[in-house]
Amino acid sequence: MSKLKKQFTKSAYDPLDDRHHGAIHVPIYQNSLFAFTSYDQFDEAMKAQLDHHIYSRGNNPTVQYLEMKLADLEEVESAKCFASGMAAISSAIMSVVSQGDHIICVNQAYGPTREFLGSYLTRFGVETSFIDGSSIEQWRSAVRPNTKLLYLESPTTMYFELQNLKQVAELARSIGAVTIIDNTWATPCFQNPTTLGIDLVVHSITKYIGGHSDCIGGVVLGSKELVGRIRNNEYMLLGGIMTPQTAALVSKGLRTLPLRMQRHEQSGLYVAQQLVKQSFVTRVNHPGLPSHPQYELGRQQMSGYGSLFSFLSHESPERMKEWASLLKYFKIGVSWGGFESLVTVNRPVKDELTGVEPDTVVRLYVGMEDPEDLVEDIEQAWGQVTK
Ligand SMILES: *Cc1c(COP(=O)(O)O)cnc(C)c1O
Repeated sequence: MSKLKKQFTKSAYDPLDDRHHGAIHVPIYQNSLFAFTSYDQFDEAMKAQLDHHIYSRGNNPTVQYLEMKLADLEEVESAKCFASGMAAISSAIMSVVSQGDHIICVNQAYGPTREFLGSYLTRFGVETSFIDGSSIEQWRSAVRPNTKLLYLESPTTMYFELQNLKQVAELARSIGAVTIIDNTWATPCFQNPTTLGIDLVVHSITKYIGGHSDCIGGVVLGSKELVGRIRNNEYMLLGGIMTPQTAALVSKGLRTLPLRMQRHEQSGLYVAQQLVKQSFVTRVNHPGLPSHPQYELGRQQMSGYGSLFSFLSHESPERMKEWASLLKYFKIGVSWGGFESLVTVNRPVKDELTGVEPDTVVRLYVGMEDPEDLVEDIEQAWGQVTK
């Protein structure tokens, strides 16, 4: 039986909603406000603004529909959509900390998240310690009396290292701190962190959830209480809302999320396995390969794998950029999660102590193309480089 069994039905099925005349897709409610005929109704709605439809920087029915679908897939009570992944991430973080608080974060977290924690928030007297995060001892020894938030991203999206979600969640509970995880890579199809005790989950909808490289969005998911607090504060006050058109595009993408993830997982693993054999590859970083140092942990806490991974090469970044430029199917570009395969070449920082030139890091995103075509492409481009 498919491990995605539940998600297939959850993505495809909606009960008919009488408000929409049997429309099979939720309509795009393209309006800023909702009006009332009697003052009694209006007063009633104003008492619990976010449970009614009053204004679209609050509660728009198209966006609310998407939130309901995402909460169902992620197995949580509540979801709030935002204008981008970063709007969701920064709002979730700010909902937890105040001046004088301390945060612990994995040091390979998404770049702008790191910058928000390590640089921006220091202006408000919030300090962050960055740790490798692969062992619980590292988390434990970074804890201070004022630690309020443990921030995870598992796997990280350059080296694909995992954290033990259950252990970090237990540690957080024992010190009265909140846990937030960036779950963009695994998607709600392959990892549901709240079932392992994590408090809040964030996704960049821009990636797999949207799935078609046509919109930017983000979401925060968790308990009614925690998400409600974000809705009433960071969401309403900073105002980074998702538009109804974006919510409609994302809802359409969501119908095929499990199908796409099934394909991405298979194709990504196939390309990763074939890459191991290439002469220019020293190591493939993919949590689904048994050679990954945390392969067993991955199997415990995830039910499948995304198709974004990286490999190390002893070849120079210049040579790998030449190779990348000769690829036909992999386009050079940031982001991922759409139908199109992508590649980036990254130069890791030189080890100042030893002066050793580190391996080049190449990140690949495997899209919807035929995986055998992709492997052939990788080989033909290398053939041209070494000709
Ligand atoms: C892209 C990305 C984000 C940020 O999302 P935006 O929608 O670009 O703001 C956050 N985390 C991860 C892992 C990402 O890949």
